Amino acid sequence: MTRSLCVYCGSSPGNNPAHMALATALGKELAASQIRLVYGGGGLGLMGATTRATHEGGGDVLGIIPNFLQEAERTYTDVKHVFVEDMHQRKIMMFDESDGFIVLPGGIGTLEEVVEVLSWLRLNLHEKPVVFLSDTGFWDDFLRVFEQIVAAGFAPKSALDDMLSATSPQQAIAMVEDRIANPLKRKPLGFEGGVRELS
Ligand code: AMP
Repeated sequence: MTRSLCVYCGSSPGNNPAHMALATALGKELAASQIRLVYGGGGLGLMGATTRATHEGGGDVLGIIPNFLQEAERTYTDVKHVFVEDMHQRKIMMFDESDGFIVLPGGIGTLEEVVEVLSWLRLNLHEKPVVFLSDTGFWDDFLRVFEQIVAAGFAPKSALDDMLSATSPQQAIAMVEDRIANPLKRKPLGFEGGVRELS
C-alpha cells in the first residue's frame, strides 16, 4: 500500500548534528519504504535534510508552502510543491494529504503543528497516528508535560495512548503502520454538567 506521512520538523538545523542526521535518515527510510513525504516545502534545516534524502533516495515528496515563506524557507523546488495562501491552508493540506505524522526535533512551528493534530485526535476528528521521533531524548520533557496534564486531571489517562515515541525512523514508521492497522477504541466525547468526563 502506498502511504503518505507528514513530517513536522525544524526549519533550522539546530546545533546538534544528530538532529540533522536523523532527518536525513528518516528521509532515506521513507524513500526506501516507498512512503510519500508530505512536508512544509522548505529547503533549510531539518526540513531540507528530510526532503533532500527522500528525493535523492528516489522517493515521492509533496511540499506545501505559504507564499510569504517562499524565500525565507527557500522552497525546495526539485520536488513537487504547491503554494498556498497562509499557514492555515498549509496545515490543513498537510493534514489531508497524510495518513499519519512523524515529528522530528524543531521549534515553535513544529510544536504548533503537532499540538493541533494531537488536539484533533483527542476530539475524535481523526485517527491518524502521531509519532515523536528523536534519538537524543529531545522530546522527553515535552512528553512529560502530557503526563503532568493527565496527573493534574486535565486529560484522561487514555490521552497518553496518543503520545507515541520512537528512537529510529524504522521504529517510527512501524509504529504508524501498527496504529493504522490496530486503531484505538475511542470513546465518544463526554461532558457532564458542563464538565468534561475524564475516564
Ligand atoms: P520551526 O519548528 O519553528 O522551525 O518551524 C517549522 C515549520 O513550521 C516551518 O516551516 C514554519 O514555517 C512552520 N510554522 C511555524 N508556525 C506555523 C504555523 N502557525 N502554522 C503552520 N506552520 C507553521
